[in-house]
Amino acid sequence: MSSKISENQPKFEPRIKEKRWNHQFEQQLFNSWQKEGLYKLKLAKGKRPFVIDTPPPYPSGTWHIGAVAQYSQIDMIARTSRMLGTPVLFPIGIDRNGLPVEIYTESLYKVKMRETPREEFIDLCRKALDELESKMLETMQRIGLSGDYEAKYRTDDPSYRKFTQASFIRLWKQGLIYEASRPNNFCHDCGTTIADAEVEYKELPTRLIYVNFKIKETGDNLVIATTRPELICSCQLVIVNPNDTRYTQIQRLHAILPIYGREVEIRPHPSAQQEFGSGAVMICSYGDYTDVLLFRELGLSEIIATGQDGRLTKEAGQYQGLTIAEARDKIIDDLKTQGLLVKIESTRHRTPVCSRSGTPIEIIPMKEYYLKQIDFLPKLKELANTIVFYPNANRQILLDWLNSIAIDWPISRRRVYATEIPVWYCMMCGDPIIPRGGQYYRPWKDPAPVSQCPKCGSTEFEGDPRTFDTWMDSSISALFIAKYKRDNRFFKRAYPATIRPQGKDIVRTWLHYSILRCYQLTGHAPFTHAWIAGLGMDEQGQAMHKSKGNVVDPLPILEKFGADSFRFWSASEATHGSDFRCSELRIAGAHKFLTKLWNLSRFISFFPDSKSTSLMASDKWILSELTKLIERSMVGYREFDFFVPANEIRDFVWETFASHYLEMVKPRAYGQGFTKSQQRAAWYTLHTVLRTLLILLAPLIPYMTDYVWRQLYSKHTVHIERFPRARWSRAYSKYTEQMVTFNKEVWKIKEERNLALRDSLEMNVPQGLLPFKTDLVKMHSLMPKA
Ligand SMILES: [Zn+2]
Ligand SMILES: [Zn+2]
Repeated sequence: MSSKISENQPKFEPRIKEKRWNHQFEQQLFNSWQKEGLYKLKLAKGKRPFVIDTPPPYPSGTWHIGAVAQYSQIDMIARTSRMLGTPVLFPIGIDRNGLPVEIYTESLYKVKMRETPREEFIDLCRKALDELESKMLETMQRIGLSGDYEAKYRTDDPSYRKFTQASFIRLWKQGLIYEASRPNNFCHDCGTTIADAEVEYKELPTRLIYVNFKIKETGDNLVIATTRPELICSCQLVIVNPNDTRYTQIQRLHAILPIYGREVEIRPHPSAQQEFGSGAVMICSYGDYTDVLLFRELGLSEIIATGQDGRLTKEAGQYQGLTIAEARDKIIDDLKTQGLLVKIESTRHRTPVCSRSGTPIEIIPMKEYYLKQIDFLPKLKELANTIVFYPNANRQILLDWLNSIAIDWPISRRRVYATEIPVWYCMMCGDPIIPRGGQYYRPWKDPAPVSQCPKCGSTEFEGDPRTFDTWMDSSISALFIAKYKRDNRFFKRAYPATIRPQGKDIVRTWLHYSILRCYQLTGHAPFTHAWIAGLGMDEQGQAMHKSKGNVVDPLPILEKFGADSFRFWSASEATHGSDFRCSELRIAGAHKFLTKLWNLSRFISFFPDSKSTSLMASDKWILSELTKLIERSMVGYREFDFFVPANEIRDFVWETFASHYLEMVKPRAYGQGFTKSQQRAAWYTLHTVLRTLLILLAPLIPYMTDYVWRQLYSKHTVHIERFPRARWSRAYSKYTEQMVTFNKEVWKIKEERNLALRDSLEMNVPQGLLPFKTDLVKMHSLMPKA
């Protein structure tokens, strides 16, 4: 039966014609996926769908490369779940409310929000958003995001906004919302209160001013150091540390404020740090959070020195109307002139700034609506411990945040392009009028929902001009996609969502607010799993900022290398949850792997896909290695850590399959000196490995895998396949180490002797590798050594 193949080889023709992977194919493939309706949710009877609470991205300019990488990986979650055999709901939403888009609109159209009629400004915002959104969707499709684009939702759509408003009305009725005036973070640039979750800290240079206060009872000087001399007018107390022996004698005496001449008490208090400045500290309303706590603790009455416009109020006397910076300069001059200035030190101060505009925030008491969260903290911690976190360590970010929350969530904003707070007020008695849910309300232009005040009978009302914090909308995305209160049957299957994928930068906002809000509305956490990704940094590991000039634009990179290279880079760059570096060089490296894979596929496409029942030892060996690869890759896939399969597969392809197996079977695949049955065994094995690799890589590089798959194996897409089973014996893996060592040794000897790889060499196959003798002798042209 072992008939030798004749010397006249049949001419082998590759079924893959193109010598190079052309990533222009990606667009065509995407269109065919859309046409085939591949990514519509197909509900299976009795099977819970895998629901992804996709983060609705926020269009406000160029999409950050780190975010594009993150969405590529969210797509890998969807594809992985489909290949595990679960129907997947992968909604596409766009978050279109709030401040960043207002700021973007102002700069794009050279207008000022507060100087433009509201209706007109809203139209401009919508126009700007539509353009940004279409670019964003283009990028989503460019990277192969397999979401349901037809069911796209927008958080500024009337259907979504009425959903947010209805949730507010319900919580109002449940008594979870109240209005209160308390010192709050206020950003002058944004003109609104902001939540603690949106405050960041920056080390900013500042001046520490040492000022002489006079002690009333003794006439002595008391030096006090401050970074906020313009707030002297709002000082209500001076504190010294009880253990500070320098000041024991003056406790309970009085200090006279410079410039203003008003007297305040000097009290011992542990908050005074002996090593800060002179150790004596003035307490103002409000220089910082310590001031807030002390005013509350000691029942001091506040003096509001800064207004909403960022200028000093009449309390500041001669400095009224000046900006904070102007007033600071002026008062320093005046103190100098009056001989009250002791010295000025340059220092750096950990300053709270607005996370949107970077402006140092002021603490101003304002009337705002609050959503209760303090009462829910024990429950929220309990929920945080029941949710599965990928990676598990990132649960701590949420727990740390929950442990630091000290006030309820201020939810009202003095902005325009966001969901309106659905409240009117009676002009006579001031009572709030709350409408019924189920409709989209714009109190700034719509008439009140009642004709008479139920309390006083008045017929005149005024709508609340404010809007909600945008997290009020996005925090109920899990409810919206599950059709809460719209389709009860669907809701039961789709809520809670299976997974919440998001970046770790929005744990204390989006993750926290989602759990809080959805729990308040449904009594359940909104999802069972949370996938928390690291952030994209620049090549040096620094955060990207326009001001630093280190921002990497993802579009030219996608243009140059294609989506698959970008995706493979994103998966292989860092373990899930760690920050990753974005560099063109690294993406070019991923591109090289794709070229390798393409060349390999094209080589295999020269040979027919055939069956075999008589595998040789080398075939059994590579299938053993393939089995181990499947097992290791699936560990990563099941945890949605794509770093694992990406690197395992790359190593296998490069280090094992291409370098060793392919070289071993090349002569056999071409039939040089082998039987037909032996040749067919090589063909069978090559195709089995390639077919398995394509399926295994499909979630990571959906384009190239599908292209090759359709060329070689099916008229259907690879994306309806299930993950391969690790079904081959692992027995032959015991030879791997010896085989690799032997091959390397032969190559080294040939190199040292200046021989070509095909040149013959006098050498025996070692005893341990005798099962592979036939292939190894051909591979290296070995001549038996006497
Ligand atoms: Zn701001
Ligand atoms: Zn009334």
